[in-house]
Amino acid sequence: MKTMQAERIFGPMDMRVVEVPIPELGDHDVLCRVVRSGVCGTDYAIYTGEFRFVKNGGITFPMTPGHEWSGVVADVGSAVERFAPGDRVVGDTGVACGHCNECLVGNYGVCAKARAVGTINAWPGAYAEYVVMPERHVFPLPDSVSFDNGAMVEPAATALFSVVKAGVSIGDTVLVQGSGPIGIAAAKLAKLSGASKVLITGRKDFKLQKALELGVDAAVNTQKESIAEAVLRHTKEKQVDRVIEAAGSVELLKESIALCRPGGTVSVVAFYERIVEQFDIDGLVFGDVTLRAVAGSLGMYKPILRLMACGMLDLTPLITGRYPLLNAHKAMADIRDRNDTRVKIMMEGEG
Ligand SMILES: [Zn+2]
Ligand SMILES: [Zn+2]
Repeated sequence: MKTMQAERIFGPMDMRVVEVPIPELGDHDVLCRVVRSGVCGTDYAIYTGEFRFVKNGGITFPMTPGHEWSGVVADVGSAVERFAPGDRVVGDTGVACGHCNECLVGNYGVCAKARAVGTINAWPGAYAEYVVMPERHVFPLPDSVSFDNGAMVEPAATALFSVVKAGVSIGDTVLVQGSGPIGIAAAKLAKLSGASKVLITGRKDFKLQKALELGVDAAVNTQKESIAEAVLRHTKEKQVDRVIEAAGSVELLKESIALCRPGGTVSVVAFYERIVEQFDIDGLVFGDVTLRAVAGSLGMYKPILRLMACGMLDLTPLITGRYPLLNAHKAMADIRDRNDTRVKIMMEGEG
C-alpha cells in the first residue's frame, strides 16, 4: 500500500503530520498531487474546535482539512476520460452522491449525502501530499492561471455565488460587509458584474487597502466611520441595492437589512455560530427585502476560471503569507497572532 504525508486534526488544537495510505483509486477517480493549499478561516475554526459543526458532530476527528487547492494529476482510474497525468487541475468544494434527486436536477450543492472537502462530513482534504477526487468534481486549470490563483478558485467561487444570489446587476450600488478573502473577492466580483459603486466594510485598514487595490470603489473602516454615513457619502442615497454580508456579525446583518433599499437583496455568506434573537423580521417584510443564504459555489467554478484565464480576476495580491505544504500548524499560529495583516495564507508543494 502506498502512503503519503498528511496534516490531520485529531481534536481541538491537536494537528499533526502523519503517514497515511493514499486513498484507493476508483475507476472514475483522479489522484492529484497538491501544489498549493490555501488556509481558510473555517480550517482555523475546526482546528480550535470553535466551529459549530465540531460541536454538533458534523465534523468528526481525525480529519484532513484543506478545501482550497490546486495541483497536478498524478494518476487516473481506468474509466477517467477528461484527465491524464500531468494535467493542471483544481477541485470542487464537495463530493456529492451523484444519484439523489438534488444531484439529478443539478443542485448537487445541497445533496444530503455530500461530503465537503476538508470540512463537514469531511472528504479527505488538501493538507496532504495528494487528494483523490471523482472526475466529475475536478476542473482543468487553464495554462494562463497560476497555481496560486487556482487555489483561490474555491473562495472566489463562493464569493461569486453570493454576488449572483444577491442579484447584482448593471448600475447597482453594492455594500459588502467584511474584508476577509470572501468579502474582498465578492466586492471585486460585484464590480465585474457591472455595479456602479461598491463599498466594502472592515476593521483593518490593511485588508481594506487590499480591496481598494483590486478596484473596489470605497472602503469603510467601521472603527472610524458609521456605515450609514459612508453609504450616504459615497452613493448620495441612504440605502444600497444589494448587500453581501460576509462578516458573520449579527450586528452587521441587522444593519445590512436596514441599509438595503425596498425591493433589494441581502445575501449572507458567513456563519454566525449562534441563534439570533431580537431579529427584526418585520423590517424585511415591510421593506420587501429578499434575504438569500449562500452555501457552497454551485456552478461558479467555470466563470471564475474564465475570468482568471482572461486576466480579469487576479486574487494573488490577497496572499499575505506562505509556508511549505504540511506546515498548517505554523499557519494557524500566524492566523492567531497576525490577524491585522493577514488575508490569505498559502501552503506550497512542489511545482
Ligand atoms: Zn473556505
Ligand atoms: Zn446527491
